[in-house]
This record gives sequence, structure tokens and C-alpha cells, in this order.
Amino acid sequence: MTQTTARSELSVSLLDTLVPHGSTSSLYLDGRWTAGESAGTFTVSDPATGQPIADVADATSADAAAAVAAAGRAFPGWAGLSAYDRAALLYTAWQLMTERAEELAQLMSLEGGKPLRAARNEVRYGADFLLWYAEEAKRVYGTTIPSPRADQRLQVLRQPVGVVGAITPWNYPVSMITRKVAPALAAGCTIVLKPAEQTPMCAMAVFQILHEAGLPAGVANLVTTAGPAAVGDVLLSSPAVRKITFTGSTEVGKMLAARAAATMKRVSLELGGHAPFLVFDDADVEHAAKGAAMAKFLNTGQACICPNRIYVQRSVHDRFLGTFVERVRRLRAGHGLDEGTTIGPLIDDSALAKMQRQVADARAKGGQVVLGGERLDANGLGDGLFFAPTVLTGVREDMDIYTEETFGPIAAVITFDDEAEALRMANDTTYGLASYVYTRDLSRATRVSEGLRFGIVGVNDINPTGAAAPFGGIGESGLGREGGPQGIDEYLDTKLVGLVV
Ligand code: NAD
Repeated sequence: MTQTTARSELSVSLLDTLVPHGSTSSLYLDGRWTAGESAGTFTVSDPATGQPIADVADATSADAAAAVAAAGRAFPGWAGLSAYDRAALLYTAWQLMTERAEELAQLMSLEGGKPLRAARNEVRYGADFLLWYAEEAKRVYGTTIPSPRADQRLQVLRQPVGVVGAITPWNYPVSMITRKVAPALAAGCTIVLKPAEQTPMCAMAVFQILHEAGLPAGVANLVTTAGPAAVGDVLLSSPAVRKITFTGSTEVGKMLAARAAATMKRVSLELGGHAPFLVFDDADVEHAAKGAAMAKFLNTGQACICPNRIYVQRSVHDRFLGTFVERVRRLRAGHGLDEGTTIGPLIDDSALAKMQRQVADARAKGGQVVLGGERLDANGLGDGLFFAPTVLTGVREDMDIYTEETFGPIAAVITFDDEAEALRMANDTTYGLASYVYTRDLSRATRVSEGLRFGIVGVNDINPTGAAAPFGGIGESGLGREGGPQGIDEYLDTKLVGLVV
């Protein structure tokens, strides 16, 4: 059997297991799977081979409006349940996702190109949000405030904001959904979710889990579409939608925030990043180099927290580079489902074109390509969108890669001389999501982590994330936090009740 046939048989069997109602009924509206009013479809392809995997429903504005209406009808009943009942549903969903982890990970590899090991990690991370918010649902505490008046009582209640419109990206196609849906449902909100057009099937599999967990009709609705603007427009213009939660690019995030203002919706935005990775001469340099190689090429560099500028103190630059390049050389590009693959394809043609442009620009301005630098098309990779893991040195401030989020497998290495210069360069960006510092000097670690203007700092740590921790950016990397107790606050309004006794 050829690999192509084997993969297409696998995709059929995965879809049978994860979405038994069939891929073209991919809209989940008011508790039912449906093909939508137009019954139009679009094709989802495997980015590693270009082969079609399945056709899914292409929702119209009318489908999106039906989803919003269903969420509106379901809201009073869902908000009126006890937190214990809402928690029980999320807990069951966590159990189901844990049971289906392997199939979900395989589907993710097929649909998004993620190497299987990384896909398994993502499913675990995605499931963690269901469990964490099942627990957190029961801890939405209000407060009582001592009043200056003896006959007055002041009470602060926290209540669900209402119907939520959620828009998610393809690069973490399960966890970016549960990171929104779990806290929203825990808080008592109802939701309409539009997943990325590249990865609608992972979204369907998550919603099938919610369905089987016993979700009441209308509480969570899924609208798959190849036309995000039309569905987005319904979510933005509907006065019934009280909150927009979005993960994706800064450009789209800004547009959503501006439009949400017209009906004064609350917004939380998890946007792009341009993470600096600082390696000081007092660091464990080999450890830093290994960490940088892992973090940079995570998900083929297509993660918002991937280091985009690696600053190394001049005296340890060559040592760092030696270990770093040796680690990057070990990466094996291939299909996510193939044994030994550690780096997958880019998601689409425009991502590939961006890699080529950033490398050409750096070369033209005097940067050196130490490793990689071009498209990979040998060994059967030519049908996919593979770009060689690339290391650029001599990167300067006038190069595109210095200011622009790469979102791909290119590591830009830059030298610095002292702490003040490192901090100045690291903060020289409009983005503010993740940042990293490697040092063994506690005072320096403290000074630098306090000085970095980013929402997340990893000190000798390439993975400062988790369902229990607040994730999010400052500046043009976004607004609000996901994860942790802060993640549920985004779905709660604060109400003051004054009572004269
Ligand atoms: P994107 O903004 O193009 O797409 C994200 C989502 O927005 C998709 O669902 C897409 O269909 C939708 N969308 C696009 N145009 C829209 C419109 N006009 N109206 C409504 N919805 C619209 O982003 P992308 O390129 O797919 O994802 C990569 C970006 O996401 C990167 O910048 C990355 O850093 C960011 N990201 C951020 C985080 C975070 O937590 N901060 C996590 C993952 C990805």
C-alpha cells in the first residue's frame, strides 16, 4: 500500500471515530450537526502533501446568525445552572478528550502538519483547559465590602457576560479552542465559535466531545467556513454577542477590536509575537542553545511564543552557535505521521513565500545563512510546503526579520555587548507576548525579567505556559489573559449590589 493510500484510509477511519455524523455536516447549531442552509462545502488539504482530506460545510451569514440566536436562547438556562452542573459537563468532556487523545493527535497531524509527538502534547494541553475550568467553575467568588454606612451592605457579584463570539487559528487547533470554550462555559456564557478554515476538523472533533458530554442545545455552536469575513461580520454586528475572543494575527485582531467597539463588546485578543531570547555570558550556554533550538522550531516556528530574535552576548556567541546549529541540523522534516519527523510543513503558500522573502532580504543586507535558507523538495517533500530549518547570523536592525514576526523555521541570531543594550533591543518592538532570558545570575534574572516589556518571561525556561497560568501579551500582542483564574474573569461581568437594611 502506498503512503498516500494509507493516509487516506487513516483519515477516513479517524473521521469515522471522531466525527461519526460525516465531515460535510460540520456545523454544530443548536445541538445538531448540519450542512447549513446552502449545503456548500470547501476542501481541507494535508499541507504536507497537498492531498485533499475531506470536504466540510461552508457556513453562510444566515448559519452564523442562527448560531448566535441559538446561543442567545440557551444563555439563561445555562447561566442558571449551578456551577457544579457546568463543571460536571466540562469534566466529562475532559475524560472523553483524554480517551480520544491519540486519534485527535493523528487528525491534527494530517490536517495541520504537526509532528505526532507535538500533536499529542497539544491534545494534552488542550484537555488541561477542560479539567482546569471544570475546577475553576466552582471558585467564581464574589466579595462583600464593608460600607462606611452602618445600615448599608455592599456585595460584589460576578456574572457571565452573555453570548460569546470566538475566532481561533490553525496553529494550535485544539488547545486554542478549549482555552476559550472551557472558561466561557464554566462562567455560564454560551458561545459561537468560528475555527480557522485550514483546521475545521479538529474543531469538529472537539465539539463532538462536548456533544457527547451532554451539552444542552445552543450552549456551544460551531460555524466552519472558508469565508471568515462574512461570519466574523455577523458576530461583530450582532448586539446579542457581548464578547469577542480571538487568537490570531495582530492585523485581524485590531480590526475586530475596532468593530467590536460599535456595540461596546468586551474583547480579549491573543495576537502575534516577536519574542526575544537573551543569552548572557553567565548562562549555561549549551543549555540555552538546546532550549533555543527547541523553542524556535516548535510547530515549525509557527507558534506565537517562538523566539524570533535570538540575542547572544558577544563573548559566548560562537559557543552558542556551535551547539545551536548542531541541534537544528538534527531536525528531520517530513509528514507529521511519519516516524522520526520532528519538523512539519508550513501551513500555506503565503507562509512559504514569507520565509523566502525574509531570507532574501537578510542576505541582501549582509546576513549570513549558516544553515538552510531554501525550500525543501527532495525526498518526496516537493508536494508539501517545507522550508529548511534555517539559521541566520549577522542579523541587523534594518532587516525585515528584525521587526517582523517570522512565524516559520528561521532563527535570527544577533550579538550584544551588555545588559542595557540587550534590554533595549529586546524591547524595541511593538509586540509584547513571550520573552526568554538565560542567565545563572539571580540579580540579573530579576532585573531583566522586570525590564522586559512582555506578558510572559521564561527564565532559563522555554515553556512558561500551562492551563493554570495566565497567558497573554501586552502592546500589540493583545488584551486580556487566557488560562488560570484570570482566564475566567474575561467571561464575567462585575455587578455591585448595595442594600440598605
Ligand atoms: P489570522 O488572523 O489570519 O487568522 C486567525 C483567525 O482569524 C482564523 O480563524 C481566520 O479565519 C480568522 N479571520 C481572518 N480574517 C478574518 C476576518 N476578516 N473576520 C473574522 N475572522 C477572520 O491568523 P493566522 O495567520 O491564521 O494565525 C497566525 C497568527 O496567530 C500569528 O500572528 C500568531 O502569532 C497568532 N497566534 C497568537 C496566539 C496567542 O496566543 N497570542 C496563539 C496562536 C497564534
